[in-house]
Amino acid sequence: MEASKEVLLNIKNLHKNFGDRGVLKGIDLVLHKGEVLVILGPSGCGKSTLLRCVNGLEKTNQGDIIFQGKSIYDKDIKMREIRQKIGMVFQSYDLFAHMTVIENILLGPMKSQKREKEEVLALARMLLEKVGLGDRENSYPRELSGGQKQRVAIVRSLCMNPDIILFDEVTAALDPEMVREVLEVILNLAKQGMTMMIVTHEMNFAKSVADRIIFMDEGVIVEESSPTEFFENPKTERAKQFLNKFE
Ligand code: ADP
Ligand code: MG
Repeated sequence: MEASKEVLLNIKNLHKNFGDRGVLKGIDLVLHKGEVLVILGPSGCGKSTLLRCVNGLEKTNQGDIIFQGKSIYDKDIKMREIRQKIGMVFQSYDLFAHMTVIENILLGPMKSQKREKEEVLALARMLLEKVGLGDRENSYPRELSGGQKQRVAIVRSLCMNPDIILFDEVTAALDPEMVREVLEVILNLAKQGMTMMIVTHEMNFAKSVADRIIFMDEGVIVEESSPTEFFENPKTERAKQFLNKFE
């Protein structure tokens, strides 16, 4: 889907240290509404930390994150509200084991957002149907495969009606045969115009889902380009070395 010109997220000169170690060293990034940004880079380069900063899970040391025209560090911004607008799905799905699929999904919208049960239930059922889990709303997480749990986690995030979703290696813990069914769901979201930042090690998926690729190494953005450009003609030696590992 064609991204709009409306800037949704503007990350400015972001720095993050752990102790005296710089992990993000001046990240500048603009994301438009409807855009799908894929973040690639070797393990430890700061991808997860960047996503965690964007949804306020990590405090930053310097720089700013402007979301929908306002700094997320603004005094009158509530982090809780930011986290509802900026959804995040992790490698570990973090579903509550003692709650059914539908109870897991309804929790956030009803408790934090105080929405009507009927409205959320209808939305949840529609989305579960879409991801092929229409018959599993009363199952417990232990009764589901990893791929099914990850699809539930995505539906749970979608039911909060976020303006953007961050995906951090959501297929990394899955058996190979379950990777596709989860990536399929994310591809469909992209087609529907959901704004997303995606960290992945699935290069074919990256190529097909991304509007834009950024390649990070050691806390900085080394390359920023279209998927075709990046995969066919990487500009830097570091990116070439990184891509060689996947061939
Ligand atoms: P990536 O997701 O690209 O693999 P991360 O963002 O997880 O990288 O980590 C970047 C660097 O920051 C790594 O060296 C990691 O060990 C370090 N790091 C991440 N989280 C913490 C933390 N909570 N405390 C200290 N160091 C951390
Ligand atoms: Mg990571």
